[in-house]
Amino acid sequence: MTGEDNSERKMQFLYTLRSKGVTDARVLDAMERIDRGVFIKGHFAPRAYEDMPLPIPCGQTISQPSVVALMTQALNVQPRDKVLEVGTGSGYQAAILSRLARRVYTVERHRRLVGEAQKRFEALGLTNVTALAADGSFGLPEQAPFDRILVTAAAEDPPGPLLAQLRVGGIMIVPVGQSDTVQRLIKVTRGETGFDYDELREVRFVPLVEGLGND
Ligand code: SAH
Repeated sequence: MTGEDNSERKMQFLYTLRSKGVTDARVLDAMERIDRGVFIKGHFAPRAYEDMPLPIPCGQTISQPSVVALMTQALNVQPRDKVLEVGTGSGYQAAILSRLARRVYTVERHRRLVGEAQKRFEALGLTNVTALAADGSFGLPEQAPFDRILVTAAAEDPPGPLLAQLRVGGIMIVPVGQSDTVQRLIKVTRGETGFDYDELREVRFVPLVEGLGND
């Protein structure tokens, strides 16, 4: 691909994000710097810059770029934040978060995806993001509390351990609903005395599944 094609493609990608409501300059900058093409191999690689979810190994999907950007924007990540992502998948969302936060932990139930994501972080020189194989419904107690938590698989309710691992003043974004229907994206804010819930938009994610995968 020539340089000209590349900048044209990049402009189109950013234009699409803006037209879908992504206005935060730091989020747009992170989306510009992290090449989604690095996270999609094989048959679907040529479609990496289209605004659509795509298949990745282990029967999972890399989310649609505009959804990644809108969730990141809603999370309102600050430079000093420690962030937990549940559902590493390709590692794309975690890489975006790593540009905005001090430290990112991302957990995934498929070991193969964890290994592939970790290699991508290394290749991109992202040193503040760690991928771990674990059932993310239980969070990551040894690194808690977190300033921000982003769940990229749909739960029937926001998991209790994740609520417990959110710092007071912290924000969690989580898709909530039955796995085979459209889910609602929820923003949970932890105050001194309890949790506030805001409904953001409709989304469709793969379900949060219990336990570690076999691969
Ligand atoms: N954020 C990813 C896309 C996520 S797809 C990206 O940027 O590419 C959702 C991921 O959540 C899948 O990879 C799935 O295996 C994982 N997942 C589902 N249930 C999980 C659980 N309980 N713990 C950890 N990961 C889980």
